[in-house]
Amino acid sequence: MPETSMPVLFVGHGSPMNAIEDNPFRRGWAAVAARLPRPRAVLCVSAHWETRGVAVTGAVRPETIHDFGGFPRALFEVRYPAPGEPRLAAEIATLLADEGARIDPDRGLDHGAWSVLVGMYPSADVPVIQLSLDRGRSPAQHHELARRLAPLREQGVLVLGSGNIVHNLGLVDFGRAGGFDWATRFDAEVAARIAAGDREAWIHPERLGSDAALSIPTAEHYLPLVHALALRRDDEVIGFFNEGVTLGSISMRSVVVGG
Ligand code: ZN
Repeated sequence: MPETSMPVLFVGHGSPMNAIEDNPFRRGWAAVAARLPRPRAVLCVSAHWETRGVAVTGAVRPETIHDFGGFPRALFEVRYPAPGEPRLAAEIATLLADEGARIDPDRGLDHGAWSVLVGMYPSADVPVIQLSLDRGRSPAQHHELARRLAPLREQGVLVLGSGNIVHNLGLVDFGRAGGFDWATRFDAEVAARIAAGDREAWIHPERLGSDAALSIPTAEHYLPLVHALALRRDDEVIGFFNEGVTLGSISMRSVVVGG
């Protein structure tokens, strides 16, 4: 029943500081969570969990992983105590059985997940499961894998991709509020292709011109977008929020599919 399908999200997470700062990005996350149906659980595909083969978190109480350095103590003190849901994790692994998915019973939540979820669901009362990014797959293979997750939308599960469309840490300029020209251009180009429903374009961003190499120096922050868009049905609307490029080379643009 398409009218009851849970929307799908891609969120640009940017700096981990968004977890503890009151800023427009965090307010955007809170607003979208308030607007969407309350999910039974979240399945997060984060840029910050890459594996060989594909894995699903199966912990009952996933710990909060502080997978970064050089930030204030307050950020290391954040705990996001959302429960896991091992039974649902097993169902997800079954959906991905042909992809060789395995359960990781020990893995916690990385900051790609919790820095966003603490803004969306601050009470940490929605169960959270993570799906890893298999380093060995091409974007087209990630797309095919993600399509297998479609039944979850009918079960009230919110699939949440967390990365950044433009993400070049090496070129970040902490004194710069907006984006470099190439970053702003590439972010707008990807957005136009998404809005046009041009699947081949977003699966093969390297074909979108010379700005792609600077914008996607490594694939891990872009791939969660591919996962989210793979779940779009052809008749579904796509909306954007938190548009903009920050720190020169980080696009915060976020995408709602079907909501
Ligand atoms: Zn990140």
